[in-house]
Amino acid sequence: MSMKQVLLTVLFLCQSAAFASAEPACAEARPASDLTAPELTGEETAEDADPTVTVEPAVLVSRRPALRPCKFRQFEAGRERMQARGAVCGDWTILGETRKPVAGKARGCGITNPVRVYKISDIALSQFSLMDCQTAVTLKTWIENTAKPAFADMGGGLKGMRIVGHYACKTQNNQPRSRISEHARGRAIDISTFVLKDGTQITVRDGWNNAQGAVLRKLHDGACGIFGTVLGPDADRYHVGHFHFDTARRKGAPVCR
Ligand SMILES: [Zn+2]
Repeated sequence: MSMKQVLLTVLFLCQSAAFASAEPACAEARPASDLTAPELTGEETAEDADPTVTVEPAVLVSRRPALRPCKFRQFEAGRERMQARGAVCGDWTILGETRKPVAGKARGCGITNPVRVYKISDIALSQFSLMDCQTAVTLKTWIENTAKPAFADMGGGLKGMRIVGHYACKTQNNQPRSRISEHARGRAIDISTFVLKDGTQITVRDGWNNAQGAVLRKLHDGACGIFGTVLGPDADRYHVGHFHFDTARRKGAPVCR
């Protein structure tokens, strides 16, 4: 189907919807030529023309006010279809459910628009993981640009990941005097194990200083820069068994250790 056919179909569907609901909407969607101000005709010259008169028709024929309900309905319908399929964050490849705002028990905890995600770009997460959409989308970027390519020639490719941490109202590394963790804001995810299609499991703990060290470093390094913080086994004793990725909004350069 050509682009023109697609546009015609969309226009037709909108018109049908407008007739069905008897609402003024997509039927008024005019071709782009209607958007231009009418040209002066006949005896009329630019000097004769009252500027308010020449400007006004352009406003009157503007399709924006009429088009908005159609666009809005299309948007709503699209969102409903996505929800029905379990897609969240406006992305067909991020599957889960939207949740009510999470109010943390302590100051600084909580997520305004949380999602519980179980699959991203066909990669299964071992548990429903609560986070915000920016984190889910960043994770998707890393999965598609780094994780999937890194395992492309191993065990049939990446199938899933063991998630050992997502939202949690806690301090950094659970230390009493530490600052609030990015996990407490729904901006962090901890990954301990990568599961391949042939059943192979590659753990950060065992693989980092062994044969899988190279692929694990690829995963680690590929996350640097897109996430605000990336911590692995070389960071500290708290991360010998997992990668910590978060979308901390900090002013300085991203942290990558
Ligand atoms: Zn973490």
